[in-house]
Amino acid sequence: QRHALASGRRFSLTAEPSADDAPTVQLEAALHQALARQEFFLLYQPQLELETRRIVGAEALLRWRHPQRGVLPPIQFIPLLEETGLILEAGRWIIEEAATQLGAWNDAGIPLRLAVNLSARQILDDGLVDHIAECLRRHRLPPPQLEFEITETLAIRDPERARAMIAAIRSLGCPVALDDFGVGYASLEYLLQFPFDAIKLDMSFVHRLVETPVDRAIVRGVVTMADALGKRVIAEGVETARQADYLHAMGVDEIQGWHVGKPMPAAALAERLREDGHGPQ
Ligand code: C2E
Ligand code: MG
Ligand code: MG
Ligand code: MG
Repeated sequence: QRHALASGRRFSLTAEPSADDAPTVQLEAALHQALARQEFFLLYQPQLELETRRIVGAEALLRWRHPQRGVLPPIQFIPLLEETGLILEAGRWIIEEAATQLGAWNDAGIPLRLAVNLSARQILDDGLVDHIAECLRRHRLPPPQLEFEITETLAIRDPERARAMIAAIRSLGCPVALDDFGVGYASLEYLLQFPFDAIKLDMSFVHRLVETPVDRAIVRGVVTMADALGKRVIAEGVETARQADYLHAMGVDEIQGWHVGKPMPAAALAERLREDGHGPQ
């Protein structure tokens, strides 16, 4: 699965809808209603620290329970949310929902770090940082618990804006991670100069590394540079124990993927954490 931004998919909203456009126009109307009717929800995918074998965090992943079409993955509607500007409203809801969930986990004695994805349009929103600060305050969250992910594509497309936004979010105390690292075209050195706290190694490397020595060399290079710069490295899309073993041996800090757990409802993650010995038993 590719990030919506990297997929290159565009939706046309022309004045004269063709047969192809009709579903898109309907989808746009449905998106307005989705916000009003609260059809969006978040799933949470665990992130495991390799050294301790403990779940230390999770990523919030958006889903849309479409009244007719069932549960839709983000690739099917985030580009349109962006195009219509609805991503600003949706994005605020996502941050609020993630903060609410973190607060509930804290109250339940299972504190975690939770990562929220930010889209291109959201980082152009001047009110974003104030909104994050307000959510932290309202839910009494230690800022290091709420992490934000920005894609490499975005950092390359608008480097000045990305740099300013990363700095502003970090000044609140929230960590910022570089998502989908390795699929863009910037040099490692260029990207590592951004003030990210963590680097999320794209799953394409993870999937090739067992078979391909070149990919292992790249991962080692990233880990070496990240270590020198004091950044955490997390590998995405880890599906097998073999991949996890390689990543551990290469010095990657954390893994996320089906091998650890699929994206799941909050209650299922809490259950999983209790099974793993977190929180009051
Ligand atoms: P991402 O941030 O890189 O998220 C990782 C994607 O990989 C997720 O897809 C996840 O379900 C999938 N994945 C996790 N483990 C594995 C695995 O072991 N194997 C494979 N093949 N895939 C795995 P998902 O949930 O469909 O999300 C796709 C993208 O949509 C995300 O990529 C992210 O860029 C975007 N997205 C998701 N939620 C949000 C959101 O709340 N806001 C924004 N702006 N974007 C979001
Ligand atoms: Mg992400
Ligand atoms: Mg990613
Ligand atoms: Mg390290």
